[in-house]
Amino acid sequence: MNTQPKLKADESNHLNCLSEGVLNDYVDQNLSSAERIQIVVHLDSCESCKSMVGDFQEIVSLAAELKPAPVPSDVSRRLRQRLAQDLDSKLFANKNN
Ligand SMILES: [Zn+2]
Repeated sequence: MNTQPKLKADESNHLNCLSEGVLNDYVDQNLSSAERIQIVVHLDSCESCKSMVGDFQEIVSLAAELKPAPVPSDVSRRLRQRLAQDLDSKLFANKNN
């Protein structure tokens, strides 16, 4: 992966190029629709930001694949059962006192 230099103060590079943070939020869909539109417009005219978004999207989809599977419903059901039994035994113990 090529490390792109952080944007410097000079604007000769590109007009209003987007920061990585903003692009990240865009990929993560953390932005309002107004912000998203601004980014879409910018991406339309900026290959470097567009490719960065492509990289982020790839990372996000890879991360999604690596995420552990959600707890199977069976496990959470058994967990609840165990908690219920635990509670029962406590109540039972109290009764015997
Ligand atoms: Zn740009």
